[in-house]
Amino acid sequence: MAEYKGVLVFGELADGKLASITAELLGCGRRLADDLHEGLFCLLIGDAIGGASEEVIAFGADKAYAAEHPSLKEYEADWYMQVADQLVKEISPRAVLMGQTFMGRDLAPRLAFRLGTGLATDCLDLSVDPQTKLLIQTRPVYGSNAQGVFTSELLPQMVTVRSKAMSPSERDDSRKGEIIPFEVDIDASKVRTKTLETVKEEAVGIKLEDAPVIVCGGRGLGGPEPFQTTLKELADLLHGAVGASRPPADNGWVSEAVHIGLTGKIVAPDVYFAIAISGASQHTAGCSSSKHIIAINKDPEANIFREAEFGVVGKYEEVVPALTKKLRELLAG
Ligand SMILES: Cc1cc2nc3c(=O)[nH]c(=O)nc-3n(C[C@H](O)[C@H](O)[C@H](O)COP(=O)(O)OP(=O)(O)OC[C@H]3O[C@@H](n4cnc5c(N)ncnc54)[C@H](O)[C@@H]3O)c2cc1C
Repeated sequence: MAEYKGVLVFGELADGKLASITAELLGCGRRLADDLHEGLFCLLIGDAIGGASEEVIAFGADKAYAAEHPSLKEYEADWYMQVADQLVKEISPRAVLMGQTFMGRDLAPRLAFRLGTGLATDCLDLSVDPQTKLLIQTRPVYGSNAQGVFTSELLPQMVTVRSKAMSPSERDDSRKGEIIPFEVDIDASKVRTKTLETVKEEAVGIKLEDAPVIVCGGRGLGGPEPFQTTLKELADLLHGAVGASRPPADNGWVSEAVHIGLTGKIVAPDVYFAIAISGASQHTAGCSSSKHIIAINKDPEANIFREAEFGVVGKYEEVVPALTKKLRELLAG
């Protein structure tokens, strides 16, 4: 039987650079590997990995495995599965960490099935049981109304981790580690799908997932216009981004790309304004990890006030422009 050792992070690249989730996974992985007194490894898959291998070492990995192949340019399940399966079987990590991202959501269950192990998705916290050396996994349950703490005895233990749930380690370019080209033996006959076209989401301004401030509007705004005026004005002032609950996206008031919640994006900004949003659990599932939630709603009984740190009961038409005006004055010094 294989001796399972170490923690393996599945790195992700975005436009040839290390995606922010990778640094977050390495920050968490480093902590777990130190608690286990074992190594931290990172797998990077792509057609041109370049300096990203050095970066993962700088963010805490002891070994970076670089799997480069022209067919690995974009994430494609059947190609990536072959690489993932080969590396995990070769190095037998005790724990495998992926992001709760487009790739992780798709690849992790496939890999877990292939390895005959379990998977805990969307984890918010991970630690090591010092007695058993097993991962203790905290993840949302009941539509994010509660958190459950799990473990499993099947190895390797596999998890996906929510974006922004973990802090990256401080980047240290003087860190030393090993970069290992991982020769993959890819069988093209096992690939059943291919990407015909990739359409890039048109991003105007700061990306929702990276925004330190999100000004999010709900159905109570009544139409598309306040998103482009009242909310955008506040977001621009705070160098933030505008988001929405699901009804504005369903109604076509805003792009589907800015819909936050269980079926939309999961965000964790420093400040989250929830404006004319009732606070249904399917919405708060996407924003409850925000550092500070500020709710503005005309209904004092709205559930969002239970989630919020600060709340203003009032009509958004009056409260938001007054808030923007005051903040502008304060920021002007
Ligand atoms: C399977 C499933 C998945 C779902 N996924 C998501 C998801 O990912 N994201 C999501 O958001 N929802 C999701 N939903 C829908 C969710 O259940 C709620 O219906 C939705 O979040 C409600 O959006 P809302 O708060 O904008 O609208 P409402 O619930 O209609 O609330 C509008 C709020 O605006 C307030 N308001 C009205 N006028 C004003 C004013 N002038 N000034 C201030 N306040 C005002 C009202 O008091 C009210 O609280 C999902 C539902 C299901 C069943």
